[in-house]
Amino acid sequence: MPNIRTYAGPFSRTEKPVRRPTLASIAGIALLLASCAAAPASSPSYPQAAPEGLGARRSVEATHASRHMVAAANPHAVKAGLSILQAGGSAIDATIAAQMVLNVVEPQSSGIGGGGFLLHLASGGQIEAFDGRETAPASARPDMHLRPDGTKKKFFEAAIGGNAVGVPGLLSMLHMAHARHGRLPWAALFQPAITLAEDGFPVSPRLHRLIAADKHLKTFPDTAAFFYGPDGSALPIGATLRNPPLARTLSAIAQGGPDAFYKGPIATDIAATIRNAPVNPGGMTIADMAAYRTIVRDPICAPYRVWVVCGMGAPSSGGIATLQILGLLEGFDLAGIGPGSAEAVHLIAEASRLAFADRALYVADPDFTQVPQSGLIDPTYISGRAKLISLTASMGEAKPGDPQGRTSRANGLDRGEGGNSTTHISIVDSDGNVVSMTTSIENAFGSRMMVRGFLLNNQLTDFAFSPTQEGKTVANAAAPGKRPRSSMAPTIVRDAAGKPVLAIGSPGGSRIIAYVVKTLIGVLDWELDMQTAVSLPNFANRNGATEIEEGSPLERLTLDLEALGHQVRAVPMTSGLHGIRLHDGGLEGGADPRREGEARGE
Ligand code: GLU
Repeated sequence: MPNIRTYAGPFSRTEKPVRRPTLASIAGIALLLASCAAAPASSPSYPQAAPEGLGARRSVEATHASRHMVAAANPHAVKAGLSILQAGGSAIDATIAAQMVLNVVEPQSSGIGGGGFLLHLASGGQIEAFDGRETAPASARPDMHLRPDGTKKKFFEAAIGGNAVGVPGLLSMLHMAHARHGRLPWAALFQPAITLAEDGFPVSPRLHRLIAADKHLKTFPDTAAFFYGPDGSALPIGATLRNPPLARTLSAIAQGGPDAFYKGPIATDIAATIRNAPVNPGGMTIADMAAYRTIVRDPICAPYRVWVVCGMGAPSSGGIATLQILGLLEGFDLAGIGPGSAEAVHLIAEASRLAFADRALYVADPDFTQVPQSGLIDPTYISGRAKLISLTASMGEAKPGDPQGRTSRANGLDRGEGGNSTTHISIVDSDGNVVSMTTSIENAFGSRMMVRGFLLNNQLTDFAFSPTQEGKTVANAAAPGKRPRSSMAPTIVRDAAGKPVLAIGSPGGSRIIAYVVKTLIGVLDWELDMQTAVSLPNFANRNGATEIEEGSPLERLTLDLEALGHQVRAVPMTSGLHGIRLHDGGLEGGADPRREGEARGE
């Protein structure tokens, strides 16, 4: 048994939920937070900036509200969402307004040129899962990310230009959600974003940094002209960025609905930009645009201790992996172990290995491949897999399991690095409707190609680059009309009586799963408030090295984790967790200190 410094008592398996934090866990939290607080916000002015540097983070205060709340990646978006709630709008109405503003102020992350997944919990109790994932055009082929000599392209060889652009799903998804749950007129929800695109907004430190660091934006003259000055320098912090073309695009969609986007001149421009791309021209047509459909799916739900956790099923791997990891950990006394310990990181990492092994083999678009979704979260299957977790040694690389409903497949590639793109919004309205939505244009700035003021995604790089392995087709191989596997994990937790407990999600590529799991365990097992759970240092295991957040106190666990057999890597882990916890009629917000967002309500 290796010497574990922060060992707080024997690991024990427990049948019953253990909800009380121990002294050790309280001490662990205090230590973590003291070391995490870093510098206070450098300026109280708006927008708040994360300081530069490794493990950099702002200090973010927990926020509370009694009626409604918005948690999102930028204060402009939160303001827009709140103004809609104040005007009597529903959670979906506020989501649409906040998302459109994010398209303006956080253009690198999400927008109408991309897609996403939305969970909606109606105050009556029903959860719907809206799948607005980008879809491959009819021209897509399994070998689309191979070079002529049959070798795999490098990521940026495939991501930039037209070929990796999927048909955007965001607008279609939001329109369908609005038709079911909207209260204010569609057009009114676009006004905050249109005004901001016309009047301009100050470039945030994060946006400036990402523009300055990007190697591909200048490939396309329109994009370069938008993000750089005439001398080629990145837009400085605080410069006013106006986007009149986007204001016009959003006005057209506000008036004409999604048809103004999926048919007519905007669709024609999107298809032409992709087909005429100077790099990686693609084959998208206006027929592909017109054919886009949002799919309303059942959410994927499973009990965890005294709660029920619901997430997005395939084509996202986010919900399946999150529920698997929680299920695998249910027999361990996480509350007794507490955060910040090698034991906690070890156990969660081991559970994560098992989930990622299954993810690689089984999860893809369920309309194209049989995904054994219920088998993968079946309690008997999960308890069998949990026996593979040792308390004293890492299992090393996990093998996929054998769930009910499986068909023989080859392992899919998992690129899985996760960049600086993607965004998560959580909203609760005064009727108790809850939205948890993650949206993305994939890599930061997507394909780098702009059409009428917005960036086009590169989401088709989420398909496997190698369509076959040892002669077998991989589940996540590209095909016409198929949706690439995602890791996005918008999540809603309820108690046994069906009352909502929290909404959470994050960007971060395949590390999203780890960020969401950490936060769920933080709130549910460690009884942390929403902000404290969001702020906890990140760690992940995607069936390889155990990754710990660079610059965080977890680096001190390296030797202990290595003694348990982990290969440890300290890496930047820039989650963008935005969550809301509901308790006794009150709301508690959490905004990720690693980004620029906030959670506000009244
Ligand atoms: N494309 C990723 C996914 O759908 C999200 C990218 C990111 O979060 O960086 O899983």
